[in-house]
Amino acid sequence: MAKIIIANWKSNKDFEAVSAWMEDFSRANFDPEQVEVIIAPAMPFLTMARSLLPQGVALSAQDLSPFPAGSYTGAVSAHNLSGLVDYVILGHSERRQYFNETHQLVAQKVEQALALEITPIVCVDRSYISQQADAIDSNLLSECIVAYETPSAIGSGKNVAVSEVVEAKEEIRAVFGDVKVIYGGSVNDQDVAEYFLVCDGVLVGTASLEAESFIKIIARAQV
Ligand code: PEP
Repeated sequence: MAKIIIANWKSNKDFEAVSAWMEDFSRANFDPEQVEVIIAPAMPFLTMARSLLPQGVALSAQDLSPFPAGSYTGAVSAHNLSGLVDYVILGHSERRQYFNETHQLVAQKVEQALALEITPIVCVDRSYISQQADAIDSNLLSECIVAYETPSAIGSGKNVAVSEVVEAKEEIRAVFGDVKVIYGGSVNDQDVAEYFLVCDGVLVGTASLEAESFIKIIARAQV
């Protein structure tokens, strides 16, 4: 099964930096049978990324509105994103921390995404796997990809032990069902291979900001 590899740029990069990254990334060589590469730029760059990305690379939003299309000034709905992105990252710990997102809000966003055929990548720490799953409509759980991410590992250089990822994967599958589970937290091209052995892919922040290091991570998933 192809390994999922997501570049999460968060609020980084302006127009020029996105253009430069795309140019550098055009040298990437990968086999879609072995890797599902997904880029998650900030909202303003999604359209541009769509036109510049090589074929076979998928796009993800980093969030979407819990509301449908309508009078919700400033919000970006699943309807707005439909046809543009294939995935959306939901409930990232930074959104829970800085934007007070709750399990219920994340669950509402999951519904909005799936109604428009956008696959939700739901981020969870081990301490609230069950609570997050309980908030989501049980019919929708198996439609999610779940990212195990612990805040202390994000952007800190302190990845969690591989054995912990194995345990978290079991805990996630016990409540979400037989979903794809990926790991995120300070992975780089030196250590990513061990995570590929135990889960379905990785969510990459810092090491995705330079195309060169992201390309090296993709290379580690291919045999
Ligand atoms: C993230 O924010 O999802 C993440 C994994 O970031 P980093 O790779 O920088 O830890």
